[in-house]
Parts: sequence; C-alpha cells; structure tokens
Amino acid sequence: MGWPYHFVSLDEGQQARRRQLLDGYGQFAQLSILLLPLIYQLGLGVRLLMGRLQRRNVYQAVKEHQSPVASGFKQPAIGGTGNVWAKLRWALDEPVAEGWGTRKEWLAVGLWGAWLLLLVVKDTGDDYLHITRRFGIIAASQLPLHYMLALKSWSPIHYLTRLSHESLNPYHRLLGRLIITLMACHASLYLNFYVQNGLLLKRIKDWDVILGLMAISSALLIGTTALARVRDWNYRLFFYAHVVLSVTLLPVLFLHVSHLRVYILEAAAIYAVLILQRNVDQSSAQATIKTLPGTNLLSITIPLSKSLVKRTYKPGMHIYLGFPSLPQKLRINPFSIANPDPHEDKNIHLVARALGGTTAMLADLATKPQPTPLLIEGPYGSASYFPDLANYDRVLFVAGGVGATFTLPIYRDLLRRSAAGEQIPVAKFIWTVRSGSDAAWGIRQLSEQCEGSLPTECEVFVTGKGGNGRGEAAGAESIELQEREGLLSGSASKEGAADAIRRGKPDLRVIIDEVFSHDGSDRAAVLVCGPRGMGASVRREVGRWVWRGRDVFWHSEEFGW
Ligand SMILES: Cc1cc2nc3c(=O)[nH]c(=O)nc-3n(C[C@H](O)[C@H](O)[C@H](O)COP(=O)(O)OP(=O)(O)OC[C@H]3O[C@@H](n4cnc5c(N)ncnc54)[C@H](O)[C@@H]3O)c2cc1C
Repeated sequence: MGWPYHFVSLDEGQQARRRQLLDGYGQFAQLSILLLPLIYQLGLGVRLLMGRLQRRNVYQAVKEHQSPVASGFKQPAIGGTGNVWAKLRWALDEPVAEGWGTRKEWLAVGLWGAWLLLLVVKDTGDDYLHITRRFGIIAASQLPLHYMLALKSWSPIHYLTRLSHESLNPYHRLLGRLIITLMACHASLYLNFYVQNGLLLKRIKDWDVILGLMAISSALLIGTTALARVRDWNYRLFFYAHVVLSVTLLPVLFLHVSHLRVYILEAAAIYAVLILQRNVDQSSAQATIKTLPGTNLLSITIPLSKSLVKRTYKPGMHIYLGFPSLPQKLRINPFSIANPDPHEDKNIHLVARALGGTTAMLADLATKPQPTPLLIEGPYGSASYFPDLANYDRVLFVAGGVGATFTLPIYRDLLRRSAAGEQIPVAKFIWTVRSGSDAAWGIRQLSEQCEGSLPTECEVFVTGKGGNGRGEAAGAESIELQEREGLLSGSASKEGAADAIRRGKPDLRVIIDEVFSHDGSDRAAVLVCGPRGMGASVRREVGRWVWRGRDVFWHSEEFGW
C-alpha cells in the first residue's frame, strides 16, 4: 500500500469545500470534548454500582482467606476472584514507569489521541494539503481544553470530574504532548510541501510561515523544558519557559492564520481567568519563620488574615508560599498545611525542609527579625475531593520525613472526630524519620492533642544514627538519647510519647499485613507521603491485598512533579 496523499490542484468550489471541512472538523473536535465529562460520569456510575454489588460478596471471600499474621504469611492468590472493579482500578493506577504517570492517564490520553487522529484523517481523500492543515486546526481546537486543565480553582472540569488540579495536571501534560505532536506533523508536512515544490525560499519570508515556525519552536521548547529530567534539573527554567512561552504562543498563533482565531481567543480568555484566579487566591501575610532545633526544618506560622480566614481548609491541603516583591516574586513553592484546622488554631502552620532554592531563602529569613512578609496562594489539593475516611474499616497512614505534613493533619482530624464521639475506623500512623529531631514537631502536636500519650496505633521509626534496624520499642533506657536528639522536646508526657518510638526501619510488609488481615476490614484507605521509593514499596505491599479482593482507597501525595 503506497502513500495515499498527493499534491492535488483544486478549483474554487473544491477549495471552498475543503475550507468547510477543515473548519467543521475543528469545531467537531472541540465539541466532542463535551463527551468526556459525560463518559467520566458514566464510569463513576458503573463503578458505584459494581462496588455495591461486589462489596456484598467480598466480606465473605476475605473471611475465608487465612490470616497471614496468625499463621505465617502465604503468597496471595494473584488474580483470584474478588472485587474485579477494585483490581481494575488498581491496575490502571499503576505507574507506567517512575515519574511517567499512570496507565490510566496514558490510556485516556492515548484513546483521545486516536479519536483526534481519526478526525485528522476523515474526509481528507488524497489531498495532501488537506490533511496537512487538518493537523493544525485539530491541534488548535484542543488548546482551550489544555489551558483549562491548568486552572487551579474555579474550573468546571473540577466540578464535573471531582478531580483536583493536582490529579488533572498529568492530563494537562499528556494533552500538551499530543497537541505538540499534531502541530509538529502540521509543520513538517508543510515544510515538505514547500521543499518538494521549490517554494521554501520564497515562503520562508512570508509572515504566516515565519509565525508558524515561531509557534512550533515555542511549542517544542515548552514540551522540552517540561520533560521530567529538565524539571528535576532546573525547576525555574521549566517554570519561566512555561509561563513566558505559553503566553507568547497565543498571539503568534492568532496572527499565523485567521481560521484558528476562535480557538486562540477561547484559550486566551481561559488564560485571563487563570491569571485572575491566581490574583484572587493570593494574599500577603506576616509570617513567623523559625528553625526547629537540631534540624534543617523551618516552622512557618501564618496568622489567618481577613482574606485567609474566608477560605475553606481541609486536612491534607497545601498552599503556595512565595515572596511579595520582585525579583523573588516569581518564586512560589507548594507546602502542605501541617495543622488540621487553621480556623481553630487561627493560623496556618507549615514545616519546610530547607534545601537549595526557595527554602534556602526562607531559612535565611528565619535569621532576620520577625514577622516576615510572605505571599500565600491557595489552599489547593486533592484532599478537597477525598472520600470521608470514616466510611472505611481501616486507615493506614505512611509518612517519610517531612511528608508527615500531609498525613499528620488527616490523622489528627480522625483522632479529633473520635474524641468528639464519632465512630471512626482504626487508623494506623507510621512515620519514618532520619533523626529524632525531625519528628519532634509532630510528636508535640500529637501528644498535646492526646493529653500526653500517643495513640497505640502510632509508631515513629528513627532510622538514623543509633538505630539497630530491628524496629523495636525504644524503651526507657534510650529516652535519654531521644531527649538529646530533641525528639520528645515539648511533649506533654515524655514516657507516654516514648512508647511510640522505634529504632530502625519499619517492616512495611508486616505492618500492611497486620492492617489488612484484620477481620472485617474489607474496605481500607491508605495514604502515603514520602520519598518515591517509599510510596512504591507501600503500593507493592498493598497491591498484594488488592489482588486478594480488598477494596482500597489509595492516595500517594507527591512533593514534586
Ligand atoms: C503538594 C506539595 C506539597 C509540599 N509540601 C511540602 C512540605 O510540607 N514541606 C516541605 O519541606 N516541602 C514540601 N513540598 C516540596 C516543596 O515545594 C519544594 O519542592 C522543596 O522544598 C524544594 O525546595 P527548594 O528550596 O530546593 O525548591 P526550589 O529550588 O525553589 O524549587 C525546586 C522544586 O520545588 C518544587 N516546586 C516548586 N514550585 C512548584 C510548583 N508550583 N508545583 C509543584 N512543585 C513545585 C519542584 O519539585 C521543584 O523541583 C511540597 C511539594 C508539593 C508539590
């Protein structure tokens, strides 16, 4: 089968028909976006129904399994019958490769790409210029959706899908790659046409071609600087390139050809909303920054100002913290809110590890007179769409280092609800820190809340110096050492808190088996925040139980992209 497209010459009528088809398919590609929330809602409906039907059977199936804790652990029956929907969801949520997003995200954008490709090819006959232009107009028709996926709040997509900006961000990135691919096909086919017909030297001086080349160069630069390797190497380069180029791309495309203008105006309007919402979501505050003794952690306390007090905070949300004046104004990093209820405390509390960039500047400010003027944006986060954890049979929190700023407020919220007489599930809290001092702020919060003694289901593992790797209770003889490390400083009762301290690494397999082998715990929630490797290990262990039929709500909070 040969190459189906040829350079054909068309009469006026045929050209008008081609124009009609180009515009029509562009509009159709855009309108078909409306199907996406509909399909999503249908998916949610099916999931709800299947979940209800299967939950009835799962309880019995789980009870029939041996308890691995009571009788020595046996490998789970991978692929056995059980909650098919939970298994499917788990399989789709698996990462494609480290830092490459999940199968679900690739599948969704892959299917969308196939649909767009169909719209690129349909009714183009053998007309080379038709398919060349179709690539361009279909790419442009997706720009408004792409910009909308970048909205942090006030987005119709958030309401329709009940997904936060953070959960939608991978789709923004993958759709961006799809659009760049379509644009690159459009540009390459056009350049080939000019070369084959000896038009390149003449056309390269024309404004529409110059602007087209500028647009594809900007798009390729946006795509390259957004690659994980570049982002990890120099986050600011990615950030500035993204902001500057995504703004300049719009007028360049607007002037490139008139047929794209409707899409460009739509994208520009969404971009304006994005800027407006960031301004509305931002406010200045007078923060107090302190270095926590014996650590490179910063404790940042932000009193709730008039505008911050109006906002809704849920445990597990984060805010962006930046500097109010130029040139640092463009530096703005996310930090989890480390206290469960800023309204009750009348302040937002953050704990940040001082590293190289923004956090090094914050550490420098900690040495200066307080309070410090800072810029706050948010709160944002997937936590605003979490299910009520009280509806699960067991909840497991696993945190590594400063990752407890995400898990601890959610755990403390459950403890608070339990103390208020609410029926809440058994919640296990595992926290691994390198040195005891790193955990002191959290131990203090917990022991204050629990009147001196930490809950029995709470364990803090100190993996750094002095650990013997066995994860046993610290015991009275080592309390002195912990005090030196600052671990228990400020705890209401040092003895009570010391019971929760372990030395060495936690055995995640044993902990997870204990959680899941508990009778009746057919629905569990697992929330993780820590280094990538930790999240992957917990997921592997929890996965064994999903394949045995457990229904698990899983969330791994990533402190990065
Ligand atoms: C949702 C979330 C919550 C976080 N909570 C905490 C916390 O409670 N305590 C803590 O110490 N750290 C937290 N972080 C990490 C923190 O934002 C910084 O990445 C980290 O402190 C690096 O500091 P730096 O001074 O080296 O950063 P810089 O050099 O200034 O920035 C580099 C890194 O910051 C991150 N980053 C910056 N801006 C953004 C952004 N707009 N979106 C996503 N990532 C960005 C990127 O990972 C990037 O690699 C969180 C990150 C995220 C995404």
